[in-house]
Amino acid sequence: MIEMIQTRGKGEREDVCFADAVLHPSASFGGLYTFPTLPRFTPQMLEEFENLSYTELCKRVFGLLGLGLDEGLLDFALQTYEGFDESSAPAQLARYDENLSILELYHGPTRAFKDMALQPFGRIVQGLAQGREYLILVATSGDTGPATLESFARENLGQDCSIKVVCIYPKDGTSDVQRLQMVTQDSPNLKVLGIKGNFDDAQQMLKSLLRDSEFLGFLQGKGVALSVANSVNIGRVAFQIIYHIWAYCKLCKEDALTRMQPLHLIVPSGNFGNILGGFYAKKMGVPLGKLISASNANNILYDFITTGVYDIRHRQLRKTSSPAMDIIKSSNVERVLFELFGAQRTRECMRSLQDEGVYALDSVELEALQGYFAASFCEDRECKELIAKSFAKGYLLDPHTACGIKAYEEFAQSHKGEQFVLCSTAEWSKFAPTTAEALGARAGLGDEEAIRFVLSLDSARRLSPHIAEVFKKPVVHSEVVEIEGLKHAIMQWLDV
Ligand SMILES: *Cc1c(COP(=O)(O)O)cnc(C)c1O
Repeated sequence: MIEMIQTRGKGEREDVCFADAVLHPSASFGGLYTFPTLPRFTPQMLEEFENLSYTELCKRVFGLLGLGLDEGLLDFALQTYEGFDESSAPAQLARYDENLSILELYHGPTRAFKDMALQPFGRIVQGLAQGREYLILVATSGDTGPATLESFARENLGQDCSIKVVCIYPKDGTSDVQRLQMVTQDSPNLKVLGIKGNFDDAQQMLKSLLRDSEFLGFLQGKGVALSVANSVNIGRVAFQIIYHIWAYCKLCKEDALTRMQPLHLIVPSGNFGNILGGFYAKKMGVPLGKLISASNANNILYDFITTGVYDIRHRQLRKTSSPAMDIIKSSNVERVLFELFGAQRTRECMRSLQDEGVYALDSVELEALQGYFAASFCEDRECKELIAKSFAKGYLLDPHTACGIKAYEEFAQSHKGEQFVLCSTAEWSKFAPTTAEALGARAGLGDEEAIRFVLSLDSARRLSPHIAEVFKKPVVHSEVVEIEGLKHAIMQWLDV
């Protein structure tokens, strides 16, 4: 098993293996774990990959990365893809136009791309835990929570599972569908708590619990280890490399690309974990062209990639219709800094961000960053226009993916005739009120009404049974707590 390395260099703690990095994801100096080296695919290997199934490709790439996961465990984890719409192709490719393919990453049970990594992740964690009891905390703005709960439910892990999950969500901060996906989870090892606060409060609370001596002492007394399932976990990132490779190879196999032809990748981005998978794939030799980050009105990633300055000092988070990208501190950017500039420089930048609220790349560094990345952003008004325009062409977008279409339209102009792929990160039904409004419904519809409205426009379209059923399931978790009461609510639940 490989030793993982740390983005800010080694502190008092030694480097750890992949399994430890998955189970205990916070590194010394506050850095993140990452792969020590990346394998390099030859053109022959890429050609070979074309004939592998999705799960075979995953096993092959994990082997080349040297993750050292037990084969039986990985097989068991990858079986979770059988619950996706098409078991042989958990991700699906669709054609948008002559030059754009859409990589639909939302065909899993919770209809957002988080399932691509989180579905197998639960079984991996359970396997690595080796019977030891774990409490996993997760704070969500909407998509991570449902995907984590689904993954760690007993139906998925088996009755002898030793993992408990507490999921914290902002009471008024998610869509109806997202909230119902969480509060109807009836597996006894899962607890869902609404908090009176926003996502930042939830995340802050979670971080302080990880350092809270009363809480840690309580868990220790019970023999329970603590972990988090947030998106910087390297175990999740590993699974997010695979679909980028798979999409490239599949497009070659279908003759939509000639082998080794560059393919520009567009990713609606927030915490930068999805596009990071694309970055690693490119570094491993997949002929990806530009990695284009698409943002909403919270366009800090756009500013960073176009100017080299990451400045949070005068930023206020804006609520948009693509809430999974409402972010100011984008965690996985750190892993890109590390790959490009090394541990010392990464540590310097992250220190500066923490102390001054800003860091700036010099011109040579900026050029290196722009050698890989480009960026675009999209305001809500344009986002709705694009949903309407695409629907008229026969493709239904969710608001996050629509921001990616904006990027495509921009970049296609200066890259005429070149090929693009856009990651679709959610199904429209998960953000139905915005979709419906874009298509002419009045503003402010509830999710159910909005879904009915969209379906009424398109008689051929079916609602995923996964979404239909959340409206019918009974609510199991109705508890909403003040931020100050969270710790005791969790301890109380663990006590029974
Ligand atoms: C999580 C999420 C994103 C952002 O992905 P990152 O990996 O955090 O950049 C984009 N769209 C949707 C729908 C999401 O759920």
